[in-house]
Amino acid sequence: MSDKKSKGQARMDALSYEKKNYFECASKKERKEMFAYAEGYKAFLDAAKTEREACAAAVAMAEAAGFAEFRFGDALAAGDKRYFVNRGKSVVVFRVGSEDLEAHGMRILAAHIDAPRLDIKQNPLYEEAGLCFLKTHYYGGIKKYQWTAIPLALHGAVVLQDGTKVDIRVGEDPKDPVFYIDDLLPHLGAEQMAGKAGKIIEGEQLNVVVGGLPYPDEDVNKKIKLTVLDILHKKYGMNEEDFLSAELSAVPAYPARDVGFDRSLIGAYGHDDRVCAYPALTAVLGGESKHTVLAILADKEEIGSEGTTGMQCKVYEDLMEEICTALGASFRKVRFASKCLSSDVTAAYDPNFASVYERMNSAMLSCGTCMSKFTGARGKSGSNDASAEFVGEVRRKFAEEGVVWQAAELGKVDAGGGGTVAKFLANLNIDTVDLGVPVISMHAPWELVSKADLYSNYRAFLAFIK
Ligand code: MN
Ligand code: MN
Repeated sequence: MSDKKSKGQARMDALSYEKKNYFECASKKERKEMFAYAEGYKAFLDAAKTEREACAAAVAMAEAAGFAEFRFGDALAAGDKRYFVNRGKSVVVFRVGSEDLEAHGMRILAAHIDAPRLDIKQNPLYEEAGLCFLKTHYYGGIKKYQWTAIPLALHGAVVLQDGTKVDIRVGEDPKDPVFYIDDLLPHLGAEQMAGKAGKIIEGEQLNVVVGGLPYPDEDVNKKIKLTVLDILHKKYGMNEEDFLSAELSAVPAYPARDVGFDRSLIGAYGHDDRVCAYPALTAVLGGESKHTVLAILADKEEIGSEGTTGMQCKVYEDLMEEICTALGASFRKVRFASKCLSSDVTAAYDPNFASVYERMNSAMLSCGTCMSKFTGARGKSGSNDASAEFVGEVRRKFAEEGVVWQAAELGKVDAGGGGTVAKFLANLNIDTVDLGVPVISMHAPWELVSKADLYSNYRAFLAFIK
């Protein structure tokens, strides 16, 4: 055997394609950058467990980077760095480029900042059998049984009768109390465990324990409920009726943590889709570009991108039109020339559940951010199917900038699928393709990603907007 490759092997290497593990092919310097970048991301995750908090964290980061608030009607000029807040729940951060807007269009990075969780109902509070509970209605696609017997935090806002808005965030500081949803002990769980997994915990059983101390007054009927109401009134000035105009969510109280002896992975609540939102944000805040670049961080993706803060709302289109008007450009021409990466997570191939994946077209962990030419379910239904021309263009950009990335679908052809915000941008006549980080245990209270894929996503965005 000689060290020289055989002619056939050399030919095979020249012609064939295989995914690469980004940790393996990164330089020492790049690997250091990956781990350093992950620290900023983990801090963002801990600050941003709801869309409101993610919006506020993004604004704080934008202001620290010299971005100022934009309001409809403001003048704009090349070099301007601005952000636009939509109702405190979604935010668009943008930089005006020097390149001709009508000729070159905008470069758009779109991600979402809402995540599956348990929303508190409008008439939630009750006492029973020594405990006080809040009733919930889950938000987004969850496996309900995963949300029991874990520490939960309460986040959100209450609008009091007089119009005052009070922010609530309990359960994140180690000194805070946390909240809890009970599950049945195995000793009595034989019948429960014989049931279907989707039914072993029902929606109406997802009631959050918030108290257990009776109010010291013999004459009161619901003493524990009164203790909780008394605390809520003293701390937040709220009465029971104020739950009617509240948006409170129970989310896992865990902070983001490194996973593995080698610290190569990050476990956290809400990677979907903050693992794409954070790179989009940081790329626009600090990346180089001659183009006008936007990071759209939208709300409500998990329930269909509806409402005034979801991607289907006209506000994003209106904002883009405002930017064009302020720069004296035709929005119609600009959007035709614009390009977008719709950035949402995809399912990483999970060897413990191999049967639902088609290995060749699955996102492999640590092989970089994943492009999905199409998403959808049951025959690409509901998908923005990006053109080969546009995919080719993005691919060339990534190659020029040395981005390690991969292409995949979410699971087997008939196994499932999913939707993203891509089609709503494409509907505006903007070339769009999906690109996002592979996630293990997506939509679980604690999800897993690779630091290599997080950094690859950031590098891909930098290349795309350049
Ligand atoms: Mn998502
Ligand atoms: Mn999701």
